[in-house]
Amino acid sequence: MKKSKVQTICVHEGQLLDEQYKGAISPLYMATAYAYSGVEINRYPRYFNTPNQVGLAKKISALEGAEQGLIFGSGMAAVSTALLSHLRAGDHVILQEDLYGGTTNLVVEEFKKFEIEYSFTKGLKKDDFEVLIKKNTQVIYLETPSNPLMKIVDLEAIALLARSKGLITMIDNTFASPINQNPITFGIDVVIHSATKYLGGHSDILAGVVVGSEKQMNIVFQMAKNLGGSLSDYAVWLLERSIKTLSLRVNAQNQNAIELSRFLQGKSSVDAVYYPGLESHPDHNLAKTQMKGFSGMFSFELNTSYDLDIFQQNLKLIKPAMSLAGVESTLTIPCKTSHSLLSSEDRLAQGIQDNLIRFSSGIEHVEDLKEDINSALKKSKK
Ligand SMILES: *Cc1c(COP(=O)(O)O)cnc(C)c1O
Repeated sequence: MKKSKVQTICVHEGQLLDEQYKGAISPLYMATAYAYSGVEINRYPRYFNTPNQVGLAKKISALEGAEQGLIFGSGMAAVSTALLSHLRAGDHVILQEDLYGGTTNLVVEEFKKFEIEYSFTKGLKKDDFEVLIKKNTQVIYLETPSNPLMKIVDLEAIALLARSKGLITMIDNTFASPINQNPITFGIDVVIHSATKYLGGHSDILAGVVVGSEKQMNIVFQMAKNLGGSLSDYAVWLLERSIKTLSLRVNAQNQNAIELSRFLQGKSSVDAVYYPGLESHPDHNLAKTQMKGFSGMFSFELNTSYDLDIFQQNLKLIKPAMSLAGVESTLTIPCKTSHSLLSSEDRLAQGIQDNLIRFSSGIEHVEDLKEDINSALKKSKK
């Protein structure tokens, strides 16, 4: 059969048939006890092989063009299991600078215990990765677009570099979602998502995903079953339901982000807007070669003649919130939230000003969002 288009995969791929009652949706199998199957790995939720887990993994693998996938209890369970499964004492991993804070913490706080060496790049060009490769390097770890400045890493260039040196590449593809970017197409080996974000999309499910080739996923599975970070079948079932509307949601979020970023770019109250979909973004041309849409995430700097706190307090629709990618628009101030543990020099070195706002576009009507922003701007002028 011809491979379905992405909208159809979102709705149908991996769906479980209700043979008994012919209902239109996947039945939910909550069992934690299954009959001995006589095969090597019996059915058990922590073995990632219940009907709902397997069905959902199929759907997300199809969206990413991967052979196999595993569904985890959180994005960090996915990140930690993927990394630890491919690294052992004495190995070295190269990670791009400005990663999701939880990933940086995992590496900086835990890897010494396992005697795993690591280096963070200074810059995101191919050469910035290449200079760090050592004899014992095993993995290159990426996240593009990055948080919060939406910097873009050249997937194909890094994948080629890694292949030429026999290294495994991993990417946290959360900010793009599978609708906007499929890193496996560019030669990346392992793709990770915090499904808490776009895949879930309603700010009510904590989950993670790892997908890749059968060979890579066997390695991830060996560690995953021992670490035990699987997701409950009820949440798996809800996540399947969420993904049915993934392409509708993400395309609406992309559209709102492009319109809002253009709207903000034209304002004297805004000093800078960072969105890879804008021609003014330094990585716009690169983004065009590897992204199908530019995501619902962008950030902007409010001019210092406006009070950031008052601006935030006067928004009616747009909520200040730590997470992202839900159907509701939210914002955070990185210097006070995600990047508050960094010194202000370190933040500035990464280009994160104190007046930077990170925006997650929802699916509301864009005119209502513009009005909310305009009204809060008016009230926050110093
Ligand atoms: C939220 C997030 C994570 C962590 O996911 P959790 O589901 O909170 O564990 C990892 N990477 C990125 C880019 C994220 O935004």
